[in-house]
Amino acid sequence: MYDALVIGGGPAGLQAALTLGRMHRPTLLLDSGAYRNTPVDAMHNILTNDGRDPAEFRAIVRGELEEYSDVEVRDVAASTVARRDDGTFSATLADGTVVGSRTVVLATGVRDVMPDVPGFAEQWGRTVHMCPFCHGHEMSGKRVAVQDSPAAGHQVAMLSPIAASVEVVPPVTAVEMTSEGLHVESESGKVVVDGLFAHPAFEQAAPFAAQLGLELRESGCVAVNLLGQTSVPGVYAAGDLAHVADLPMPMASVLAAAYAGQLAGASVLRDMVMPAH
Ligand SMILES: Cc1cc2nc3c(=O)[nH]c(=O)nc-3n(C[C@H](O)[C@H](O)[C@H](O)COP(=O)(O)OP(=O)(O)OC[C@H]3O[C@@H](n4cnc5c(N)ncnc54)[C@H](O)[C@@H]3O)c2cc1C
Repeated sequence: MYDALVIGGGPAGLQAALTLGRMHRPTLLLDSGAYRNTPVDAMHNILTNDGRDPAEFRAIVRGELEEYSDVEVRDVAASTVARRDDGTFSATLADGTVVGSRTVVLATGVRDVMPDVPGFAEQWGRTVHMCPFCHGHEMSGKRVAVQDSPAAGHQVAMLSPIAASVEVVPPVTAVEMTSEGLHVESESGKVVVDGLFAHPAFEQAAPFAAQLGLELRESGCVAVNLLGQTSVPGVYAAGDLAHVADLPMPMASVLAAAYAGQLAGASVLRDMVMPAH
């Protein structure tokens, strides 16, 4: 029986496990190896890690976790998570193992749903981006297109001081990288740019919010309070899969996910040592 089962080995889950390990709480971290930022080889806007390869970042944290003997890391997916009658949890892993835990920290992230647009998935994270904070600076002095959406106006305003030119294009029908730049096709024709900003839909990467009957927000993300607690006692959520009521969607960044993971880890402790709260 673990004190905490942390599901997810991105920044949210890794930080939650680090926090719990430092407090000598038996913790199992599960990682299926599917990270949202897999397509990029450099992440930005992260102090001390600006420009670092996300895989290297995760490897560094894995090394840090080895210092804490109460943390066990397994590279295996969880399949199901259920709340038992006594308020503890059991999880079935993809290798058939069943584990028990007093609490669960969900840090499974979200999955970006690639549109049925030729070339889009191939260029996602290379020349097609969603976040000006993460990849805007790399467009300095370059030509940028923004796919029309409710967020397009904001993106143009954010990118205008950075890029040489920014134009809004209708929903994209094809993208292709060529020697002269990125060909972006839409109903209004073809433009040649260096980068495209677009907002594909996203969905929960794992089924545990549904399995546990957690309250969701309009965005499809798990509803958490400021302490990372979900609507089910003993279940916490951190990272891209969850957000507080004041936000329309998660603040999707490595630092925000790590912060939420630290908060969730601390909340697990808080509820264990101060159960009356
Ligand atoms: C293309 C792209 C580029 C980005 N660039 C930046 C950037 O430059 N800077 C920045 O700050 N942010 C960037 N982001 C955002 C950032 O990657 C996310 O906000 C961050 O990774 C969220 O962390 P997380 O821990 O919530 O989820 P993730 O990092 O997605 O981790 C989810 C974890 O859950 C695991 N998991 C899922 N299902 C299961 C299961 N059933 N069992 C076990 N484990 C499971 C996965 O294997 C993974 O370990 C980028 C995002 C994208 C899409």
